[in-house]
This record gives sequence, C-alpha cells and structure tokens, in this order.
Amino acid sequence: MINSHAHLDFDSMNTIAQNAIAIVPSIGNQNWTDVQMYPYFSFGIHPWMVESHSQHDLDHLEYLIKCNNPVAIGECGLDFHKDIDRDRQVYFFDAQVQLALTYDLPIIIHAVKATEEIILTLKKYPKLKGEIHGFSGSESQAQQLTSMGFYLGFGLQITNQKSTKIRQIVKNCPLEFILIETDDHPNPNDLQLVAEEISLLKQIPIDTVIAQCDNNAISLFTLS
Ligand SMILES: [Zn+2]
Repeated sequence: MINSHAHLDFDSMNTIAQNAIAIVPSIGNQNWTDVQMYPYFSFGIHPWMVESHSQHDLDHLEYLIKCNNPVAIGECGLDFHKDIDRDRQVYFFDAQVQLALTYDLPIIIHAVKATEEIILTLKKYPKLKGEIHGFSGSESQAQQLTSMGFYLGFGLQITNQKSTKIRQIVKNCPLEFILIETDDHPNPNDLQLVAEEISLLKQIPIDTVIAQCDNNAISLFTLS
C-alpha cells in the first residue's frame, strides 16, 4: 500500500520509515537533503516555512529540481489559519506553481482556510496536475477540484466519527481521485485504518480501495 504523503525523514517517524512505500515531501531547505534518502521524494517550501526562505532558496530549489529526480513539487501552498504574512505565502506558492509547470511535475498542496484561493490559482493553469493533501475544504470545493483533475489526500482525520463533514466528502468523492496518507503520524497501522474507513464509508471492498488508491498515486507521481 502506497502512502501518498508521509514525512518519513522526521525523527518521530523512525518506526514506520523502514517498510513504508511513500512519497516523502520536503518542507524547506532544512530537509531537502534528508528526503533524498527515500526513493520517492518531492522538493518544496511549506507555507509555514516561508519566513525563513528567500529568493535565493527558490533559485536553489530550481537547481535541485534540475539535478535530481523529485516525483513532485511540494509541499507548498497557503495556510491562512496561521499568522504568517499572506503576501509572502502567495509569492512562494506562485513561484512553486511555476516550477511545477516548467518541469512538468505534479504539485503537492497544503491548503488550510485557503482552498478557495488555491482553486482560483489552479484555474489559471489547466495543465497543472497535483493533489490537495489533507483535504479540509468543502463538498463543493472537492467537486470543483476533482472535476479539474486534482486528487484529494485523506488521512486519519476521516476515522474520527465527529468529522462528519470530511467523512461525507469521502463518501461522495470518486475513488479515482482519492489518495491515502498519514502525514506526520508515526503509527505503522495508520495507513490501513484510513483505507478501512474509506471502505466502510463508500461500501467498497478494502482491496478495491487499496488497489485504486495505489493506482492513483502511481499515475499522479509516475512511480515505477
Ligand atoms: Zn505534510
């Protein structure tokens, strides 16, 4: 089973890092080197990290993309829940959208309280492909994104019975656009729990869920 988004290089993740097949996203210049230890990694600057990065880092990011083989750009995006300068977040997100287009790579997007802004940007670039990881938008935003060909990543949050809104979105979202992930949760069983929950919510056999979500990750990130 492919974990579409797991920070395996974080110290807390040692327990699952050994056996996992995962896309390991970077968050900024502090782990651009570490993520390259994994077969499938991405290069980017997380919206939480933009204050410690500069244009020089964006230039270096482009150099790394050219010289290595990331499967994607990210994670990048917008987080308007955090008290981080919005213009600066937008600047770094837009720059990474351009890198994804230039190098024809999918983009891994972190969107919190900013899904509408993200959709407006994505609409400008019909050729762009990618995913919204840890999706937390609305039902209609989910529909818009999947109709634009974007994938939605879901994690442990959907196993919480109280998360009624997100569970309803999973129910209605076509399986062809779902990715499963554990983000920074260090429990090795987490991925299975997410897959089981999708199977229950959609009333689809778990083997079908795993096979389709694996295929989604393989096709989006062109995994070999
Ligand atoms: Zn993440």
